[in-house]
Amino acid sequence: MNILLLGSGGREHALAWKLAQSPLTGKLYAAPGNPGIAQHADLVALDLTDHASVVTFCETNRIGLVVVGPEAPLVDGLTDSLRAAGFSVFGPSRAAAQLEGSKGFTKDLCARADIPTAGYVRAKSLEEARAALAEFGAPVVIKADGLAAGKGVVVAMTMEEAEAAVDDMFDGAFGSAGAEVVVEEFLTGEEASFFALTDGATIVPFASAQDHKRVGDGDTGPNTGGMGAYSPARVLTPELEAQALSQIIAPTVKAMADEGMPYSGVLYAGLMLTEQGPKLIEYNARFGDPECQVLMMRLESDLVELLLACADNKLSSIQPPRFSNEVAMTVVMAAQGYPGTPKKGGRIDHIPAAEAGGAKVFHAGTVLSGDGVLSANGGRVLNVTAKGPTVKSARDAAYAAVDAISFPEGFCRRDIGWREIEREEAASV
Ligand code: AMP
Repeated sequence: MNILLLGSGGREHALAWKLAQSPLTGKLYAAPGNPGIAQHADLVALDLTDHASVVTFCETNRIGLVVVGPEAPLVDGLTDSLRAAGFSVFGPSRAAAQLEGSKGFTKDLCARADIPTAGYVRAKSLEEARAALAEFGAPVVIKADGLAAGKGVVVAMTMEEAEAAVDDMFDGAFGSAGAEVVVEEFLTGEEASFFALTDGATIVPFASAQDHKRVGDGDTGPNTGGMGAYSPARVLTPELEAQALSQIIAPTVKAMADEGMPYSGVLYAGLMLTEQGPKLIEYNARFGDPECQVLMMRLESDLVELLLACADNKLSSIQPPRFSNEVAMTVVMAAQGYPGTPKKGGRIDHIPAAEAGGAKVFHAGTVLSGDGVLSANGGRVLNVTAKGPTVKSARDAAYAAVDAISFPEGFCRRDIGWREIEREEAASV
């Protein structure tokens, strides 16, 4: 079967790597892709906002499955256009992708379906937002309603910060994404990401991970798209995972189906593990980046079979996904300046040496010049991924691979997995 993969990040390189391993895969195309993805797929230039041209490409190339990596084409309804033309698509409809595209939509759904989450108020004006702040007090969380590339959330420790945040949002700091804001109760606990595949009726757990959002060691500095991750997140114990499935994921999938917006694809729940149990912080309508890289590193099942079963409402008729018991870790190498203004053009060498010991280097923002020189072309550049029996051993393998790479104008965090490694060390004393 011919497959079209949409996207260009480390997440999509990991998906391409796994899709290419399936005996079901005929020709693999990727749009727009990157130099890492090009090792597994033919890259094609498609304008993803021009749905008709994507449909025409799928017809011409007899595409049997379209896999959508990032959120923007989902929220834009590309999946609806492809399904209307008869194609199998992995990824939710525009209506179902509101779970990611509108924070207010998700909070209202949680209220209707009695799903544990932080208390909230939706505010459509500065006055409403200020009144909500007065009600909640600090600390408090302020979120732009729409997609803001992971940057539309302010966790305000003081009322001054909170007021400045709502002023900024209604001043257009996040464009139309901030035309409405959600003011939210501040939750405390440890965060974990939990993934489930669903075709709208059947739900199968798809492992857990823990991301590291801040740019600096010790979780300091500004938020980023994610600087590293490991899987599984053992802090999400089997009991807590069962609770998250029955109290959060299952009622969401049921409510979406009942309300005429069946959700199909991967549902990625950002959870806060509070003293009262797991609470939903947010949903994403696609795999996390860099969490996808560690999930793919551990996945033993055929990815094409799984994604096709989601797309074709056949998840109940296949074996549930199997994952290695090992821990996978990915370390993001970013260009200096990230997440502000990343420096472009830094030269990268010795990836084969980094992979010699079994690590896998997924490309994110890279570019290959005509003379074969690989260089940085974005904020997050490489995702250096390795496995081991413990978090500590996975970390040692990942950082050994990082250290084999020459990327003088790059940097990475040195402490990915620190919480779990502290727990491992405490347990082994
Ligand atoms: P989100 O984009 O909704 O995942 O939010 C980004 C980050 O803000 C999360 O990963 C949390 O660290 C933090 N956050 C979001 N909502 C809350 C909340 N209600 N309480 C505490 N922290 C939060």
